[in-house]
Amino acid sequence: MPEGPSIVILREQTAGFVGKTIAHAGGSAKDVDMAALAGQPVLAMRSWGKHFLIQTPAAALRIHLLMFGSYRINARKDAVPRLSLRFDDDGGELNFYTCSVKQLAPDLERQYDWRVDIMSDQWDAALALKKLRALPDTLACDALLDQTIFAGVGNIIKNEVLFRIRLHPLARLGDLPPRKLRELVEQARVYAGEFLEWKLAGTLKAHWLAHTKSGCPRCHIPFHRAQLGKTQRRSFFCTRCQKQYPTAREAAPDLLTPLAITPARSDNKSRSQRTPPAS
Ligand SMILES: [Zn+2]
Repeated sequence: MPEGPSIVILREQTAGFVGKTIAHAGGSAKDVDMAALAGQPVLAMRSWGKHFLIQTPAAALRIHLLMFGSYRINARKDAVPRLSLRFDDDGGELNFYTCSVKQLAPDLERQYDWRVDIMSDQWDAALALKKLRALPDTLACDALLDQTIFAGVGNIIKNEVLFRIRLHPLARLGDLPPRKLRELVEQARVYAGEFLEWKLAGTLKAHWLAHTKSGCPRCHIPFHRAQLGKTQRRSFFCTRCQKQYPTAREAAPDLLTPLAITPARSDNKSRSQRTPPAS
């Protein structure tokens, strides 16, 4: 599934269509008024997380490439496109396949919070941290995939960030020390930026340290592989160097011990000292 950085690349690859007018819109996508798109100029190509957005005055189109989506610029695949746009004056064409296409109202500013887009200039780390603090029972692996907190983070970024910050995917957010929670937010953003650079350079996979890997490059032992959390996405992790912080119960057993014997004995002693013997 394309993650946020890949959608930024799509946005940049299609920037040349901005200012051009749609001559014809077609494709198998339901709920899109194809006829009404003809004659509309493209005002902007935008991205929010894993959403690619085509802005026209009358409507915006939201394309989500899902697991197997693809696109062709000024080219076609031997398949029925979900959305096909052709532009005026031989301005080229844009085709999307095996994806979700939805027509939205044109006012994208009201529909999207750009502060949660991991790739956006408006990314707000403090807001992400605030949202994570409100979810103490959420697992780290689920938190990173939550598109309302980290829009654009997918399974690759999840596995790599957890490995980088030495955090077990099943660690509960409420058990993390504050600095580890901050590191989670910081490195999600840092890794997403590196992902973009590596993808553009064609070296993304060469930089993977955990995702799809068989063993831990730090400990030289096999990775655990499991579909974890409520998202049930593949996790690759090392149980030696990726820490699953103890729960509050395990970390502070004293607080949970019913009544300790020692204080009771000292109470008896002090009482006997205060009370003189009967004889
Ligand atoms: Zn390790």
